[in-house]
Amino acid sequence: MSTESGIRSRITLLLIWIGSAALAITIYHCIAKRRSRARAAQQLPRQYGIETMETQSSVVSSTAQHIPAFKFQKGTGLVGGDGTCAICLNEFEEGEELRILPECLHSYHVECIDMWLHSHTNCPMCRTDATPSPAV
Ligand SMILES: [Zn+2]
Ligand SMILES: [Zn+2]
Repeated sequence: MSTESGIRSRITLLLIWIGSAALAITIYHCIAKRRSRARAAQQLPRQYGIETMETQSSVVSSTAQHIPAFKFQKGTGLVGGDGTCAICLNEFEEGEELRILPECLHSYHVECIDMWLHSHTNCPMCRTDATPSPAV
């Protein structure tokens, strides 16, 4: 009889322990959820506002900056193709600033290619990546 009552009291203790543990876990989860929600509410505007804008602008400026610009002079032989800008379809005039894409050597007006590079990272004519490869 004594062993049976001992087992019963042990089971009762175990049940109480499990019950209180479950209660503690539930309360902990509630607090953790509230905290993470408060944290997320604080962090979201920062992440989606400033950080994405920073990455976008840094990509654009670095892409354009790494492409060499030069003044167009007739007869230098620097400009391939038919000597026209594929973006605005105007012929290059003497003294205009041009950029030659490092990978495909297509050339465009600085203003035209800079505007294009705000939303793209490749050549508007042949779609070759406009950013110079890191090894070069
Ligand atoms: Zn142009
Ligand atoms: Zn190209």
